Amino acid sequence: MAEKVGFIGLGIMGGPMAQNLMETGYELVLYNRTTEKAEEIADDGATVAESPKEVAESCDVVVLMLPDSPQVEEIVEGEDGVLEGLKEGALIVDMSTISPVVTRELAEKIEERGASMLDAPVSGGEPGAQQGTLAIMAGGSEEDFERARPLLEVMGDAITHVGPTGAGQTAKAANQIVVAVTLEGISEALVLASKAGVAPEKILEAISGGLAGSNVMEAKKENFLEHDFEPGFRVDLHHKDLGIALATGREYGVSLPVTAIVDQMLESLKTKGRGDRDHSAILTLIEDQAQHELGDGVG
Ligand code: NAD
Repeated sequence: MAEKVGFIGLGIMGGPMAQNLMETGYELVLYNRTTEKAEEIADDGATVAESPKEVAESCDVVVLMLPDSPQVEEIVEGEDGVLEGLKEGALIVDMSTISPVVTRELAEKIEERGASMLDAPVSGGEPGAQQGTLAIMAGGSEEDFERARPLLEVMGDAITHVGPTGAGQTAKAANQIVVAVTLEGISEALVLASKAGVAPEKILEAISGGLAGSNVMEAKKENFLEHDFEPGFRVDLHHKDLGIALATGREYGVSLPVTAIVDQMLESLKTKGRGDRDHSAILTLIEDQAQHELGDGVG
């Protein structure tokens, strides 16, 4: 019989991920800070719990999809949290992007209670969550990974067991460096070309088939060209992720100079009130500095 699954955190990503699990036939117990969101999804046939503790009391596997380390800590260790209701032998699958250091600390506390934890952050954004095609990078024991695999296969299609606890979060930090630095590079290229009089869509057409082309370029093409910064993946979440990458670099003695610059650029975007925009809005910072908006004066 399929395991009973709890799902905590039903935002842009967690909502559709939980929906896909329900549609596959999993029996779900939902919890979200804003209860209406859980009730809306539960309309399709799930139970809504009053607290994370209640979720843990009734489930074999509990999936978390929360913004950042403090929220995951609160949900796991806080009052009426998961730890208070945890069943022996239960598995926590944390799919949020958080610090690998916090992950290892939480895993230890969960193990002390006779349960275990898998970190399984994702890449692929809202469309990947909706279509069940996320890339999932997991850290934990082989046994826990195999136990979670049927669930992960509903939510994603590129599923990698990267290594022990925390390795999934480390892989995600690496992923976020590549995505941020690439978005910044594309933004510089497009603003330069546009102010120099070449249409940005022609630039993307010309370079996307060569070495400069990437999944990031393909996925964010329309955001850049249409100036559509509806998220998607919010600037403040990506800023949080670069903070995790920089802190991890500091812990292990790895200097990440370009990551640090892009981190500061995202800080500026937040200060300008664009923290809730899609991360492709890094383009607008380059535009501000160049006093030129994509397409201006290009015929
Ligand atoms: P979101 O802000 O849309 O969703 C977070 C959900 O958690 C919300 O429903 C919120 O109500 C709930 N929540 C927040 N604090 C809570 C608390 N203390 N108790 C209970 N519920 C709480 O964020 P999202 O975009 O779905 O991202 C979730 C995670 O996935 C983040 O770690 C993010 O970095 C990661 N991620 C997001 C994307 C993306 O494209 N959006 C892609 C990959 C990874």
